[in-house]
Amino acid sequence: MADQANPFESLQEQLDAASEYVDVRPDVLERLKHPERVLATTLAVELDDGSVELFEAFRSQFNGDRGPYKGGIRYHPGVSRDEVIALSGWMTYKCAIVDIPYGGGKGGIAVDPKQYSESELERLTRAFAVELRPLIGEDKDIPAPDVNTGQREMNWIKDTYETLENTTAPGVITGKALDSGGSAGRVEATGRSTMLAARETFNWLGGELSAATVAVQGYGNAGSIAARLIDEQGGTVVAVSDSSGGIYDPDGLDAEAVAETKRETGSVVDHPAPERLSNSELLTLDVDLLIPAALENAIDESLAHDVQADVIAETANGPITPAADAVLTERDVYVVPDILTNAGGVTVSYFEWVQNRQRFSWTKERVNDELERVITGAFDDLVAAYESNATPTLRTAAYVVAIQRVVDAYTQGGNWP
Ligand code: NAD
Repeated sequence: MADQANPFESLQEQLDAASEYVDVRPDVLERLKHPERVLATTLAVELDDGSVELFEAFRSQFNGDRGPYKGGIRYHPGVSRDEVIALSGWMTYKCAIVDIPYGGGKGGIAVDPKQYSESELERLTRAFAVELRPLIGEDKDIPAPDVNTGQREMNWIKDTYETLENTTAPGVITGKALDSGGSAGRVEATGRSTMLAARETFNWLGGELSAATVAVQGYGNAGSIAARLIDEQGGTVVAVSDSSGGIYDPDGLDAEAVAETKRETGSVVDHPAPERLSNSELLTLDVDLLIPAALENAIDESLAHDVQADVIAETANGPITPAADAVLTERDVYVVPDILTNAGGVTVSYFEWVQNRQRFSWTKERVNDELERVITGAFDDLVAAYESNATPTLRTAAYVVAIQRVVDAYTQGGNWP
């Protein structure tokens, strides 16, 4: 995967690009480009053989003007301070574009979880939860899953927090298993918002998602579910990939069957298909819709010249470098920005938190209906900003809406102390 852009700098460039369309003073904008607080810690964790290993871990609280900090926790060897800060900034503007009452946060541990046993990962997660305890809380900062973390890690963090606080506080974290206070529809939510954002975009452009050919890079939680839901809508998923490579079938893959193969063998490449392809071949396929759903910086400037898709729905956070974004804009490729496309995860996290606070569970139908209302409403706000401001890209329009909402909350609260 190409890696020439510092994600924190990408975030700042995106904010600068949008700022000329927003009623914001330069000093206020500057404040919105930096995190309020960053925890950097070294976790000392006992391994199964009795030795102790050190892990770098971070939690960034980027902005709390609109509510408690909110954002996932990522386990990946590439986790760095700047990456976590950038992701926490994107969370701020993501929560604002979908208009849920949260600020932005993010956390991560520099670790390849595949190299560790379950008990080692539990000790690592609980060690991080101990460090996070003073910062997090139902009304303060609410973590969630991200790359390589899921219900299991969320349950451990909730249990550590509740044990140390001697209370029950299921809303301290979202993305939990159902029996630990999770929400129906949470696992599917990011894939569902990808499908909804893509559907709205095709409708807006006068087309139909059901007539689209689709390629999906990254077949984890978000990518595989987006593929299945698009498949269910009648779209044709012709190519998918993961870190081991990709597969291609011009007649369409059965998205659920591919997910089944990945669950069984660990990779989509083991699924029978007429052709194998590399990740760069997948990203430059001639399809109607491209979904990068792996990690940031997947599409760099040189690759952007070869992209043939008409629409890109960014399921991963920051998958297109700013230089690539400029090339894609010039080439009239519509990019549906990450802060809207993948906002389903945080939106249903918000529903989970609301249910936790009310000690009341919603049905899956209610969750999906409310999610559809939020994503289509946000898409309408984005299009209205795009058309009325004549912004160069949908991304800029999304930031215009989001920045204005954060600026308004900040201005209404005032600067103190
Ligand atoms: P995941 O760990 O479940 O899946 C990631 C997938 O990407 C895996 O299939 C992995 O094999 C693949 N991958 C890794 N490196 C790759 C490469 N070089 N080329 C191709 N594939 C590669 O993670 P996820 O939860 O699906 O998240 C994916 C992206 O979506 C991340 O950027 C994440 O921040 C973003 N996101 C996820 C959620 C969520 O709720 N899951 C919410 C918002 C944003």
